[in-house]
Amino acid sequence: MNDWASLVFAGMVLFGLGLILGSFGNVVIARVPEGKSVVRPRSACPACGTQILGRDNIPVISWLILRARCRACGERISARYPLVELSAGVVFVLLGWWAWQSDSLGLLPLLLAWGLVGLCLAMIDADHHRLPDALTLPMLLVTPAGLLLAQLLGDDRSWLDAAWGVVIWLGAIGGLWALSRGRGMGLGDVKLAPSLGALLGWIGLGSAVVGLLAAFIVGALIGITLMLVHRAGRRSRIAFGPFLLLGTLIGVLVGEPISAAYWSGFVG
Ligand SMILES: [Zn+2]
Repeated sequence: MNDWASLVFAGMVLFGLGLILGSFGNVVIARVPEGKSVVRPRSACPACGTQILGRDNIPVISWLILRARCRACGERISARYPLVELSAGVVFVLLGWWAWQSDSLGLLPLLLAWGLVGLCLAMIDADHHRLPDALTLPMLLVTPAGLLLAQLLGDDRSWLDAAWGVVIWLGAIGGLWALSRGRGMGLGDVKLAPSLGALLGWIGLGSAVVGLLAAFIVGALIGITLMLVHRAGRRSRIAFGPFLLLGTLIGVLVGEPISAAYWSGFVG
């Protein structure tokens, strides 16, 4: 195989892996906020309770073949299930592309873990306005472990920058939480901040800053849009977790080139 063929093949493997893990992500999104096991029982139709057959549980494809309806009762199956699976597939491909072109394949295991957990957290926060400890607290250990693995696999970067990433993110999110007395920012956001800051800081301080700014800019744009179309009043609360996670994705993918372009604009 030549280089392009291997790249396309690797992309397809990552996309397939994203679809399968995204399918598991749908289970996590539905059950973790209710404190239920993500292993048992097997998935069932929310309308009629019939267990979903293995052949009807193929990511995206089953939804298309069944024409978005339960095989047993005919109730509609929401398009968000295949959309979550497709999103995971696309995010996995983007993260794989970034790791390959920036020569950071050692960081890919942690990036993919965050790709899946981040997608789940964003959906749960949008649904329930909270970020469950069951996901945010383990990531406080998984993140440094993933950075150590990256170092062992040859993606040797600065632990000091990762620590600065923690300071920047925890300072900004924790500061806003304290100033707003928990109304602007939830405690879940504060528990999420150090992990995201460490991941971005490992990639570079530019990524940590760009990711944080991107979260606030996208959050403000969406907030203003929702107010303009009267979907939200000035006092209605918008979950901020999805923006922190989207900002992190932006910081990973384009944080370094954006900050480099910004500084070169000053130098000349
Ligand atoms: Zn059914």
